[in-house]
Amino acid sequence: MSDYRIETKCIQSGYTPKNGEPRVLPIYQSTTFKYETSEQMGRLFDLEESGYFYTRLQNPTNDAVAAKICDLEGGYAGMLTSSGQAASFYAVMNIAQQGDHIVCASALYGGTYNLYAHTIKKMGVEATFVDPDCTEEELNAAFQDNTKAVFGETIANPALVVLDIEKFAKAAHAHGVPLIVDNTFATPINCRPFEWGADIVTHSTTKYMDGHATCVGGAIIDSGNFDWEAHAEKFPGLTTPDETYHGIVYTQKFGKGAYITKATAQLMRDLGSIQSPQNAFLLNIGLETLHLRVPRHCENALKVARYLKDHEKVDWVHCPSMEGDPYYELAQKYMPGGTCGVLTFGLKGGRAAAEKMMDHLKLAAIVTHVADARTCVLHPASHTHRQMNDQELREAGVQPELIRFSVGIENAEDIIADVEQALAQI
Ligand SMILES: *Cc1c(COP(=O)(O)O)cnc(C)c1O
Repeated sequence: MSDYRIETKCIQSGYTPKNGEPRVLPIYQSTTFKYETSEQMGRLFDLEESGYFYTRLQNPTNDAVAAKICDLEGGYAGMLTSSGQAASFYAVMNIAQQGDHIVCASALYGGTYNLYAHTIKKMGVEATFVDPDCTEEELNAAFQDNTKAVFGETIANPALVVLDIEKFAKAAHAHGVPLIVDNTFATPINCRPFEWGADIVTHSTTKYMDGHATCVGGAIIDSGNFDWEAHAEKFPGLTTPDETYHGIVYTQKFGKGAYITKATAQLMRDLGSIQSPQNAFLLNIGLETLHLRVPRHCENALKVARYLKDHEKVDWVHCPSMEGDPYYELAQKYMPGGTCGVLTFGLKGGRAAAEKMMDHLKLAAIVTHVADARTCVLHPASHTHRQMNDQELREAGVQPELIRFSVGIENAEDIIADVEQALAQI
């Protein structure tokens, strides 16, 4: 980790050219890497030496970008994945296997909910979902002997619930397991979960990190703080020999790098959800302006939220940075500088009014995306959650009338004017 401030890290971290080398991080558009001797290549395959040999495992462009995100989060080691979904999958499956269990905060991104509630269940890993606002007793009661990790989102998409990271970290550590936090919406500009006790951070880099809606991607960052050896019986994948690498033990050979090395050398080798170097290059350009864009997103979102709150046709507005929001206090504690550019609201006219209003928006586009430079909007009940009935929607924390509004970095007055004219037509 460098000593620079976060703005400087956004620009400088991850890649430092030597004399005469390209100033800008190059795209290593090569699947493979050349060696002088067969023996040296063999040592790479045994993890006896570090180096590149095949892009499915590692690529210099990807590694530079992972190192930048790692530095922004204040972590020890990081890796890129092909998507945020792959990051969520690998982060858990790197330490859980058939017969294991995880505890999750129930306010989650829909894709993550499906992954943990249904898909990994078919692989033998069960999840218990807890209300993120539960008491410590209720949280502790969710743990089982086979629990291997706790998972939550800093700011849940789309529920905008702010996770009490310290409460979740305390419970995880009391049960000898790590806390994994999806920090996609907050970004390390607004919150660095490791500073509050989280052990591993995941990202959908598709959102603010890329910031321009050009490339799907993900990242996993390890703080290096969790002591796997102290709970060795729970994590045999890290603390006992891996026969596919001639019996190396990750914790013994790689110390604080054990978790990311295993995820790369084993899961990436076998499952192959790599980010393309081309996408990593685009992601890196996005990261260079993350510290400029995120505050503007937050500032604009707060202006739009305040406008909506006072509008006669609006029933309710959620924006954790706005006074009076149920998560205002938690947001002030964990993200005093701002939360994110996404807000949600409901109209007095309910679901029908929501659909009608959205059709009248001109600047804000209806897209299946959030958190990029352009203002966009989605009605989860009609789109991402359309297979659910109203009852199921409420249980998932998504009211049928909820509009998810992702405020971009255009001029806030233009965004508000667009909302105003659309509301005038319902
Ligand atoms: C979008 C999103 C994901 C999934 O990421 P993809 O890059 O779309 O696979 C995971 N978590 C959160 C909070 C997200 O917003």
